[in-house]
Amino acid sequence: MPRDLSLVITGSRIITSDSIDPLPATIEIDKNGCISAIIPKKLSIDSYDFLENIKFIDTGNNIVMPGLIDAHVHLNEPGRTDWEGFETGTKAAAAGGVTTIIEMPLNSIPPTTTVDNFNQKINAAKDKCWVDVGFYGGIVPGNQNDLVPLINAGVKGFKGFLINSGVDEFPCVNEQDGQNSLMMFHAEMEPSDGHGVDKSLETSDKASYYSFLNRRPQSIEINAISLVTRLAKEYKTVRTHIVHLSAADALDIIRKSKSDGVPLTVETCFHYLCLSAEEVPLGGTEFKCCPPIRKKENQEKLWKALLDGTIDSVVSDHSPSTADLKELDKKEEERDFVKAWGGISTLQLGLPVLWTEAKKRGCSFYQLYLWLSKNTAKQVGLQEKKGDIKIGYDADIVIWNPEETFVVTKDIIQFKNKVTPYMGRTFYGVVKQTIVRGNIVYDAEKDGVKNIPCGNFLI
Ligand SMILES: [Zn+2]
Repeated sequence: MPRDLSLVITGSRIITSDSIDPLPATIEIDKNGCISAIIPKKLSIDSYDFLENIKFIDTGNNIVMPGLIDAHVHLNEPGRTDWEGFETGTKAAAAGGVTTIIEMPLNSIPPTTTVDNFNQKINAAKDKCWVDVGFYGGIVPGNQNDLVPLINAGVKGFKGFLINSGVDEFPCVNEQDGQNSLMMFHAEMEPSDGHGVDKSLETSDKASYYSFLNRRPQSIEINAISLVTRLAKEYKTVRTHIVHLSAADALDIIRKSKSDGVPLTVETCFHYLCLSAEEVPLGGTEFKCCPPIRKKENQEKLWKALLDGTIDSVVSDHSPSTADLKELDKKEEERDFVKAWGGISTLQLGLPVLWTEAKKRGCSFYQLYLWLSKNTAKQVGLQEKKGDIKIGYDADIVIWNPEETFVVTKDIIQFKNKVTPYMGRTFYGVVKQTIVRGNIVYDAEKDGVKNIPCGNFLI
């Protein structure tokens, strides 16, 4: 037994890549925060009591699995730090069992579209990260010459828009830009003929969710996904990823592309799987995001695609703003869905939100591990180090109780603006401890989020 251990985690329900069912195991973690051994049985502290200065965690019957990798997070710093920030955002991640986030290039000012801008973001994030943080770069018209330097500086991929991004400093690209630098796309693109608007849902009531939903029909996503998959087929050496898929009618195009061998991955978000248009209340702008949450029947099709592997991963697309930009300072009936900021805050809540729905559908913990950790690690190129409980991997771990419930209240929320469509709801799945490279960054029973930020930059 090596003597350079810093932490030992034992328990009876541990998810590793070797087993579909959670099994008893003991995980040994060295002083570098890496997993150095996995013993296939539950051990007691007596097995280690001759070692000094090691922490020993008996997780009992809680689930132990790789920490979540949330590859779609907007922290908005620098520039819009009143919306979110690295400190509050990564503390929320830690409290939610997320051990790695990949931060989006837009909504910060400046956006991550040049190396100089990227350095500004890195400086803004220094000593403020409670979990590991990787970064995406952005593709905007005219920045093709910045892409290779950005890759060399360590970005994990690029994001481009085919529709107005919502912020002026991050303009959308056209097909030409995409041909040179395609990677990840916000897949909404307005058809030139305006085709696809569902007249039956038209409403002049600005506080009605349908005043917004009707403007973002599925055809907008299908249009963009058709373009993206066509280019992906043409440029097969470039891995292509569709972010936040909402339109189930686009699934057939995606299935066809995947079966043709196109290197395409697809993510959807917690809210598309767990919320539906029918439940959005009058003026409920906390539910507004782009692409929009669609109807229940759409949600069912997304679940089917997640279960059959057409959709690879589930992320938060945590995209907060201040409450006034969500029009929450107005009475419900006076709020304007079209004007309100489009973004949902979920970062801390993804695991319980998804688990509560997945549990009803008879899903396994192993499936959660694939959707929330393993597949995402692969998508962002971290699969040799993260996303698994495996010897040599970073000890990024979440310990949680899937049978226990909690209610979302303002005082448990760590992210900056306490605005979320999940407020007041009850969910299954309570995070007990979150561990990043062997460091306990969150402990529900002992002070919550720890004082010292120990997140690394993944660059
Ligand atoms: Zn986003």
